[in-house]
Amino acid sequence: MEVPVRIGIRGRLFLAFGAVAAMTVAASIIGWVFYTRLGDSLNQVVETNIPAMTLVTELAEEGSAIIGMAPALAAAPNESERDRIWKELSRNLTLMSKFNEELDNDVRDTASHESLKDLVAALSSNLRDLDENVRRKLWYSSQKEELMERLRWVSADFLDEVEPMLDDIKFIIDITLEQNASNTGSIRIGRSEIILKRASDNQQALLRINADGNLLIGLIGRAANLADFDSLRATELYLREVQTRVTDNLKNIKEMPGIISLRQAIEDILSFSEGEKSLFGLRHDELETQKNGSVLLERNREQVHNLGSLIAARVQLARSIAKAATNKSQQSIRQGKALMLATVGASLLFAVLIVWLYVGRNMVGRIIRLNSSMHSIADGDLKANVPVEGRDEIGAMAVSLRTFRDKLADTQAELVQAGKLAALGQLSAGVAHELNQPLAALRSYAHNSRRLIEMNQGPEAIQTLEKISRLTERMGGTINHLRTLARRSSSDLEPVDVKAVCEDAMSLLDIRFRDEDISITRTFPGHDIFIQAEAIRLEQVLINLFGNAIDAMTGRSRREFGIEIIENTKRVEMLITDTGSGIADDNLEHVFDPFFTTKQVGEGLGLGLSISYNIIKDFKGSMRVKSKEDTGTTFTIVLDKVPGSDL
Ligand code: ADP
Repeated sequence: MEVPVRIGIRGRLFLAFGAVAAMTVAASIIGWVFYTRLGDSLNQVVETNIPAMTLVTELAEEGSAIIGMAPALAAAPNESERDRIWKELSRNLTLMSKFNEELDNDVRDTASHESLKDLVAALSSNLRDLDENVRRKLWYSSQKEELMERLRWVSADFLDEVEPMLDDIKFIIDITLEQNASNTGSIRIGRSEIILKRASDNQQALLRINADGNLLIGLIGRAANLADFDSLRATELYLREVQTRVTDNLKNIKEMPGIISLRQAIEDILSFSEGEKSLFGLRHDELETQKNGSVLLERNREQVHNLGSLIAARVQLARSIAKAATNKSQQSIRQGKALMLATVGASLLFAVLIVWLYVGRNMVGRIIRLNSSMHSIADGDLKANVPVEGRDEIGAMAVSLRTFRDKLADTQAELVQAGKLAALGQLSAGVAHELNQPLAALRSYAHNSRRLIEMNQGPEAIQTLEKISRLTERMGGTINHLRTLARRSSSDLEPVDVKAVCEDAMSLLDIRFRDEDISITRTFPGHDIFIQAEAIRLEQVLINLFGNAIDAMTGRSRREFGIEIIENTKRVEMLITDTGSGIADDNLEHVFDPFFTTKQVGEGLGLGLSISYNIIKDFKGSMRVKSKEDTGTTFTIVLDKVPGSDL
């Protein structure tokens, strides 16, 4: 029977370790994939989030710089300061635009980015307006200063005009009063009174013009610094009233010398209240500009506030994106770790399962069972069970072993048969030898008896007849023994008297011992000893050993044969010793092999020891040999003692 090998051990192990290797490769691929993913996440953090974070941080810095600088621009005291602040602001705005441009690359937050962009644009435009506004305010301020300076000159001119006129009137009045005092005539007095009255009227009008002129200068000067439009309007109305009064008073003194210059001086003063040089208009525009400036500043504040919020949102978003990326990376690491651990664990488990279940339990287990079967067969148990498991090389080996066992059993049976025949041949020769001699003696004794009877020598004849009787007894014993040997051996072991079997075997070869003139030494215990065996087969073994000993001693100078029985608690040892040729060391290990013989063709088959060995094994005993070339040999048989047999 042949077991068809489906996949051999090599194939299975190859598959198994291939699977383990595949799992390891899978673990590596998983690791690689997750590391790549991790790398991507980190790249994303590095390439997108960090620059985005940096940009928004820089935006935030520029934003906060603008927050502080816008009011400073609004409050710039002069053009150079304004210019310096504006340059700084422009730089901030340019940087903000640049960061914004760079943020264009970041498309993930388009909505907020767009509003940020719009806000920066609006902020820039507002700041430009604010700058323009400040520029105008400064211009108004310088214009005001210039006009005020000119007003001061004009007011000085006015005083230069009005004061001499007052002095002239005072002089006229004084002269007229002096003339009145010296000229007491009525006509002259009447005239001088008229002069005095006119002079006094003129003086009154001039004094009023002087006061109103100064008032006009004061009102115009105040207008340049009035805080609101209402006050400006009220002051202008008041100025128009004073102007009307001055115009009326000028009409009253229109004939006074110097009046033209005075009128011109007053017109010069009034030119600062209307038209191009109007301090009112200037102040009005300045207030308007200031108002616009406040609006712009307020708008700037709002924009900066919105910018701050947007940037904060932006920072928050960048942070949350970075955090999400970090979380993703961590999750990636966790997943990768778990998967790798699972794969490595699975591959380890798989490897352990292969080693434990397949190699350990299946392969090694089957090899151990096969080994035990081999041991049993080697120990001679040819019925040993040989389990055929698995369709691989071990299964095929088991089948081969089974075939070997069966063939061995057949061969052994044949060998036993051949051994038996050989032993029978030997026995027959021995029996023939044993019977021929007594038969010859019988023939001679019978002849002698007849002669003695014929010679009437009765007592001698009786003696001879008794010899015949003893001889026939001995022959009967020999034949009996032959019958016993021919009986089929049973497989059941029984208590066997070991000393008796030894004696029987010896007696069968007695003639040969005597022919070879061999001295025999028996060393037996005094009592009977029983062992577990089969008497006939044990005798067969002993005949073989004794025969070999006789063969080995043939033609040798020292011919001593010894048989010793040693008794232990549980076992009995039988030592068969000769002083024959001995066995060469090289041959010693082969003597129990079937067909090993050193004898001539026709003298030995080489089966005796091998059959004997197996018989002793059947008795659950053992057999060993010790030998020295040219000195002698000792065979030792060990058998179980029947318990209590020595009592
Ligand atoms: P055979 O006697 O037919 O050769 P055996 O199996 O009985 O077969 O013996 C095998 C061989 O063992 C013998 O040929 C012999 O060489 C050797 N042998 C056995 N017994 C002795 C012994 N007592 N002394 C020397 N050689 C021995």
